[in-house]
Amino acid sequence: ERLVRALSDLETLRKQNEELQEIFKEISVNNLSDDQKEAIENFQTRLTKVERPYIKLGLGNINSKEEPNTQYEQLRRRIYTNTKEFWFYIHSYLLDIQKKANDIAPEIVDTVNQVLSLGSEHKRSLLHDIEQLAEVDGYEDWRFKESQDLSNLIQERFKHLQNPEDCDTARKLVCNLNKGCGYGCQLHHVVYCFMVAYGTKRTLILKSKGWKYHRAGWEEIFMPLSETCVSPNGDTVANWPGHAESQVINLPIIDSLSPRPPFLPLAIPEDIAPRLTRLHGDPIVWWVGQILKYLLRPKVKTTNIIQEAMTKLGFKKPIVGVHIRRTDKVGTEAAFHRLEEYMTAVEEYYNQLAYTKKVDKKRVYLASDDPKVMVEAKTKYPDYEIICDPQISKTAGVSTRYSDTSLFGIILDIYMLSMSDFLVCTFSSQVCRVAYEIMQNYYPDASSKYTSLDDIYYYGGQNPHNMIAVLPHEPKRQGELQLTVGDLVGVAGNHWNGFSKGKNLRTNQNGLYPSFKVKDKIEVAKFPTYSELYK
Ligand code: GDP
Repeated sequence: ERLVRALSDLETLRKQNEELQEIFKEISVNNLSDDQKEAIENFQTRLTKVERPYIKLGLGNINSKEEPNTQYEQLRRRIYTNTKEFWFYIHSYLLDIQKKANDIAPEIVDTVNQVLSLGSEHKRSLLHDIEQLAEVDGYEDWRFKESQDLSNLIQERFKHLQNPEDCDTARKLVCNLNKGCGYGCQLHHVVYCFMVAYGTKRTLILKSKGWKYHRAGWEEIFMPLSETCVSPNGDTVANWPGHAESQVINLPIIDSLSPRPPFLPLAIPEDIAPRLTRLHGDPIVWWVGQILKYLLRPKVKTTNIIQEAMTKLGFKKPIVGVHIRRTDKVGTEAAFHRLEEYMTAVEEYYNQLAYTKKVDKKRVYLASDDPKVMVEAKTKYPDYEIICDPQISKTAGVSTRYSDTSLFGIILDIYMLSMSDFLVCTFSSQVCRVAYEIMQNYYPDASSKYTSLDDIYYYGGQNPHNMIAVLPHEPKRQGELQLTVGDLVGVAGNHWNGFSKGKNLRTNQNGLYPSFKVKDKIEVAKFPTYSELYK
């Protein structure tokens, strides 16, 4: 019987292979350079060598199906996102109508209320069904395994890059941690350095002595970036871009980087792009998450402090992570959002969850740089268990921010937010974006586990974020964009009411377009493939 199964698995593999060939054929007509083709072929060879059928037999798992194709996974995610978009649109415009009808037509207000109520139930039911689809389609094992395999592949390469045999001759890229900004921003600075290091195949050397969050430096909190090579010295030292033969290159902050290499966000490595675009709804976030996974390996002492704090606070699931950024950010870099706006999104998460399981206690992990909002939350939402630490919040204020106590506070907050089941925050804050990126390490694809009250995901210093029109659009109101299928649209933001704002790069017109009429354009760059690891 095992033989029969093995044969049938082999047959499946053959079919998959054919399917993949088809997919790759399609990709290759998309004007790929020779280099790109080579990378994809390399990747393809490795992919079709998977030992999965045997592993499957070993596990005796017969219910699980082979791999899904990319189109299926993308379609599944698209239906999910656009179900949300559909409801953003209907909900937002019904509220508009209700407001207008308020004084003149009370019967309309009533009807609209009924539509809003049953409509939101309808939406939840749809989202629930789509989530279930992923559980019954037989590909869940594959998703878990694929995400682990991809992560292992990348982490191995990072380890290899960061641990050269001879540090005296190793090619290095030097990055100074002390960018003049907060912890989240500094982390993103190091991640950017790491991307360039990976792209130029240079060991990243992190200079962190005198770090404003912890004078003794990074290595007292997190594992050093290398076991073998931490010295920034070398025979020849140059500033970016330097030369191929310069042993050491100093990298400036991304804001003053010139020339800009192709390795910057939102680009992902081309050789893993086909796998990543199948597995994950927002590949760049996964990519950033992998780099953070390597960077943020905590020292034992740090782990202990975090674990102790978690136990003390009583971190327990289900839990929604809420980050409310106030103090210096509000009015300068971001608009103020009331607590109620965050809690509406939390409430919606729990209403949705009720379709899947009985929720005994609605829990929130609340992080903020303003302790007042914690008192407010506990007073206004007594039916919730609000887990938070006002002490941490106090030290997060502007005057005490750059201190050791404050550092452990922000590390803990980010960690708790990332471990939550869902995030509600403003993506204008790097604190929440970092938590969202780290969250990707805990699921095959956590790209839709958030509500941002303002921006869509972005990476500071990124190249333009482009979308591709998949449906035509004729403007219905002033300020709407005309779209033709295939148009590139540089997206500025989502208004979370069914429309996004952007610029049609074909017509140079700025305006609003229905969010569901576009899809993300995944940017790839030719990073080294570290093929020496697979010989
Ligand atoms: P951004 O300014 O919000 O984009 O994020 P940054 O991380 O660059 O700078 C904000 C800094 O404020 C953080 O690094 C923290 O030091 C502090 N901070 C902001 N929000 C919180 C929070 O919720 N908890 C803690 N502990 N600190 C915070």
